[in-house]
Amino acid sequence: MTTHIRNFCIIAHIDHGKSTLADRLLEQTGTVSNRELKTQMLDDLDLERQRGITIKARAVVMKFKRGGQNYELNLIDTPGHVDFQYEVSRSLACCEGALLLVDAFQGVEAQTVANAFAAMEHDLKIVPVINKIDLDYARPDEVAEEMMNSLGTDPDECIRVSAKTGQGVEALIDAIIEHVPAPTGDPSAVLQAMVFDSNYDDYRGAITYVRIMQGTVRKGQKIRFLRAGANHEIVELGQFAPARQPCEELHAGQVGYLICNIKSLGDVHIGDTVSIPGDAAAKPLPGYSRPKRMVYCGLFPSDGQNFSDLREALERLAINDPSFEFEPETSDALGFGFRCGFLGLLHMEIVQQRLENESDIDLVQTAPNVTYEIVNKRGETLMIHKPQDVPDPGDIEEFRQPIVRCNVIVPGEFIGAVMKLCQERRGIQKSQEYLGAQRAMLTYDIPLAEVVYDLHDKIKSCTRGYGTLDYEMVGYEPADLCRLDILVNGKRVDALSVVCNRADADRRGRAVAKRLKQEIERHMFEVAVQAAIGSRVIARETVPAMRKNVTAKCYGGDITRKRKLLQKQKEGKKRMKAIGNVEISQKAFMAVLSDS
Ligand code: GDP
Ligand code: MG
Repeated sequence: MTTHIRNFCIIAHIDHGKSTLADRLLEQTGTVSNRELKTQMLDDLDLERQRGITIKARAVVMKFKRGGQNYELNLIDTPGHVDFQYEVSRSLACCEGALLLVDAFQGVEAQTVANAFAAMEHDLKIVPVINKIDLDYARPDEVAEEMMNSLGTDPDECIRVSAKTGQGVEALIDAIIEHVPAPTGDPSAVLQAMVFDSNYDDYRGAITYVRIMQGTVRKGQKIRFLRAGANHEIVELGQFAPARQPCEELHAGQVGYLICNIKSLGDVHIGDTVSIPGDAAAKPLPGYSRPKRMVYCGLFPSDGQNFSDLREALERLAINDPSFEFEPETSDALGFGFRCGFLGLLHMEIVQQRLENESDIDLVQTAPNVTYEIVNKRGETLMIHKPQDVPDPGDIEEFRQPIVRCNVIVPGEFIGAVMKLCQERRGIQKSQEYLGAQRAMLTYDIPLAEVVYDLHDKIKSCTRGYGTLDYEMVGYEPADLCRLDILVNGKRVDALSVVCNRADADRRGRAVAKRLKQEIERHMFEVAVQAAIGSRVIARETVPAMRKNVTAKCYGGDITRKRKLLQKQKEGKKRMKAIGNVEISQKAFMAVLSDS
């Protein structure tokens, strides 16, 4: 019953042609006609097209006849970036095979390696594919060798295609049928299905993407989400072809969607198991976990006025993205805003960009920070999402930070530059391997906090754009960290506290104090700007007393000009925040925040 089904995904580095190949497969299996095919069928989110990345997993079914036999191929599109590692792993758990797609000119890149290893861990059958063979400067033989050296694939098994012209795509379809194993599973067993994705439809509510592992699910049936512990009735089910195509039932081995009047995506957990209500339910599938937010930042409306607009915009975003999280935060410096949690850096960028595209609120973002783990003197372990929450030094037993394993793939000539950069970022080298004559893969363990700011950009710039970086979490490790505070006339400025290495604290403290001094206007009294670790002051700057007279330059005469200036000063005042008895403009905070 399942011998005609193949479930597979495509693993590729950005721009190696995943979306184009998906389009060709849809076309050559007759799933969509040439006329219907707007390019890049699967990337329907604007942002994905802009950035050329695939953010959400999707699934499309291709039904066709070959050699008198009907086939059903399910292409499960996985997110390409490690921020979405967990979602990738759930998608892989729904497949029996993976096309490992590599650009015939670019060769193996960091994301190819990370995702290929993930697929191997899930025991997927790997079908190596070399794309863009139509390019004049394609070097398929060398790339086949690189793939063998880095991933262990047989050069003779590599299928050479051009997703652009369609060359080799028929042979690839044959290879998928021949090499990817058909799913196993018993359609008459108790229902057991894996939730691998979900999205939100304004009219239908949550749409749950599932792979049926065992049993059969039917329209109108009562089901239970085992982890969420919720029962629902199925209103509609079907497959994506690529538009939603309702059907009466889905059985073991198939991939499709369920609609059950679920109002919030928060109730659909990726990795959850769908079964039947009651004691006869199947076992939950292994590998479930909750989204882990690793990067946090504060988002504030820049003029303090649009707080409720910002809340609405964030709520809208969260409906479609349950891994994004936010809660109100009040800052002395920036007023009312939100502390937001993200899976990683790219996820943060995506959310910010969506906010900017979809609402016209002027946003202030505080420097991103990672989630720290602190064991206090009472032996409790605290997860810390913002620097202000770090306890005072006397109460900390151990300070731990997240470490990621970074793979960087570079042409040989840039190895030295990348090594220097990774060392500066407190990286520990794990290995160095040559993929071919000219390219090498460097592996470093680096604190996530050091990656968060700009490691990716720095790697791009020190390798003239040729280097690629990918990383995955390895866990928490103790480090010599401290909370560095900035005080203005003895009062701590919450938004300016940071976590940093003790060895860097002096330098950073001095720099911030200096910068803030430049930005603070003179008062009637002296203003002290200090940097401190706990009660120990490590740097001090003084803003001398004196009141700035804004009308002094106007030499009496023009009264309207004077009024305008005074009015301007008043408006400026509105954006002033009081820290104790000192008034600091929001601009000053922004200057300091954007430096650090
Ligand atoms: P993705 O990021 O992996 O989804 O890559 P895309 O499918 O968006 O392709 C990236 C770029 O490579 C696009 O400009 C495509 O037109 C181009 N491209 C994809 N496949 C081929 C191919 O076989 N030959 C050539 N010459 N270009 C291709
Ligand atoms: Mg794409």
